[in-house]
Amino acid sequence: MSPHIEKDYQFFLKNLIPGHLLSSERLEGIAGAGRSGDRLTMVRESILALEELAKRGIFQRSGLTRSDGKVAVTYAQRDGRTSYTLELTNLEWESLSPRPERKAGLVPSVLAGILSSLTLNGSGVSSTEKIEDILGLVEYASPGAEGRLLLFRESFIQGVRESVNIRESAADEIGSSALYGPVMGDGKIRTILRGEKIFAEKSYFRIGGGVGAVVLVPLAGNGRKFGILQVHIPDATLGDNGILFNFNLIGQGLVRFLDNNRHLEEMVSVDRLTGANNRSYYDSQLPLEMERATRNRKSLGFLIMDIDDFKKFNDVYGHDTGDEVLKLVAATVRNHLRKIDLFFRFGGEEFIALLPGANREASERTAERIREVVSATAFATGEGENLHITLTIGGCVYPDDADNEKELFRKADKNLLEAKNSGKNRVKFQEGVD
Ligand code: GH3
Ligand code: MG
Ligand code: MG
Repeated sequence: MSPHIEKDYQFFLKNLIPGHLLSSERLEGIAGAGRSGDRLTMVRESILALEELAKRGIFQRSGLTRSDGKVAVTYAQRDGRTSYTLELTNLEWESLSPRPERKAGLVPSVLAGILSSLTLNGSGVSSTEKIEDILGLVEYASPGAEGRLLLFRESFIQGVRESVNIRESAADEIGSSALYGPVMGDGKIRTILRGEKIFAEKSYFRIGGGVGAVVLVPLAGNGRKFGILQVHIPDATLGDNGILFNFNLIGQGLVRFLDNNRHLEEMVSVDRLTGANNRSYYDSQLPLEMERATRNRKSLGFLIMDIDDFKKFNDVYGHDTGDEVLKLVAATVRNHLRKIDLFFRFGGEEFIALLPGANREASERTAERIREVVSATAFATGEGENLHITLTIGGCVYPDDADNEKELFRKADKNLLEAKNSGKNRVKFQEGVD
């Protein structure tokens, strides 16, 4: 069915618009426009009326095209029986569009949905479910559309699991991809239409046959980049800024959720003195990292580090200086780990590092580098002293050396003890089995 093109607004308002479904405010507006005979007033009333119907779910705005200085905006009835395409000049559209677009039906409900999803009480709903809820709003913003979230692993959102709609990846990986790189690069929304070569390649989500366009919304805020919201849209006639506005809004909701979550997470997961993650965070992250390693068929390096003769150090320099040096040692170690590595203060002057993707050789190399750097560093205290300290490291690798958390810890700890007994300031690794 080809849509009627409406140019005679007087006729449209008088005979076509379903007046019985409109509010009295709209009916008054329409009557006033009819009396005035002013074209712009009639155009505005036509659009306001259709937007009102769209807001109530009777119609939906299904397209917007521009050509020859004209704009054609289409509204289709949800039951598919009727659709109207209003034709107006660019100038008329510009003078009207800010209002109908802001009013464009779904914005308040989207906001409300996002806000309710953002409640951060201990209602037992997991972060994953909350993100899924927010992604679900995409369908409301644009019927038939689906939202997917590509999350940077570095965002460290506690408890978020991968699912059909949520993927994790390192920021570097995403930044260097032809599909996602440009979006993260300039931080702007991008629409990719079917037919563009890169469309289906390089996507972290399978793009099926029913997808006409993909919208990529970069998720950044408070100086942080969290990832990308990827929206699949059934048709490719996506010239409508109102829809993009809604996707952007949902993106902002995600950023707020992720940022709030990060904030809360930081409060409960970071050790105050050293800035390393704390032991309870270790308890929650180790199983997740093991699971991730299994899924990706990669190894996970496991290092336990203990500062040598720290009791003596405290005795000589005092506990405050000890604290200060502990902090500097932690910062030095962190600096020599990769971004994707996890670093915990396990207790007093003991630290644990998890090295995703690192096999025995890489883990041992990292451990050795850390040992060497710490032993070579002169830690400058506030008192102006340059102090030296060493640490000893025990290590092993998942899944090669152990298949569960306890065993992994036990083996690394045993290696630490052996290294201590054989002279300190050294690395001991689980012997490889080959
Ligand atoms: P070893 O080489 O065998 O590890 O000797 P050590 O003296 O380091 O022995 P151990 O690891 O058993 O002792 C840890 C000491 O570290 C005990 C305590 O005085 C000190 N320590 C633990 N936590 C802190 C802290 O937060 N601040 C300071 N200043 N010292 C700490
Ligand atoms: Mg110790
Ligand atoms: Mg010690």
